[in-house]
Amino acid sequence: MSRKSVDNPLFDDSVNGGVPRYRVLEILLNAKWVERAVKSGRCFVCKATDIDQTGLCLICRSFLSDEERAATEPYYQAV
Ligand SMILES: [Zn+2]
Repeated sequence: MSRKSVDNPLFDDSVNGGVPRYRVLEILLNAKWVERAVKSGRCFVCKATDIDQTGLCLICRSFLSDEERAATEPYYQAV
């Protein structure tokens, strides 16, 4: 049980097991982390399972700021 990926926000400490709200933009700007969330099939913020290619569920997407929403655009265009 070594804990080697402390720099990985997907496994960082947070209340509900997901990424802290203030790191959402950081995740969205790193396609690698989003991809990992998508592969896991769970929202990277709240762990809900109804996610799309941004790695976020419908609920969390509805709470995105303008800046965060803009960061999701490339994921939709890539499809
Ligand atoms: Zn969510």
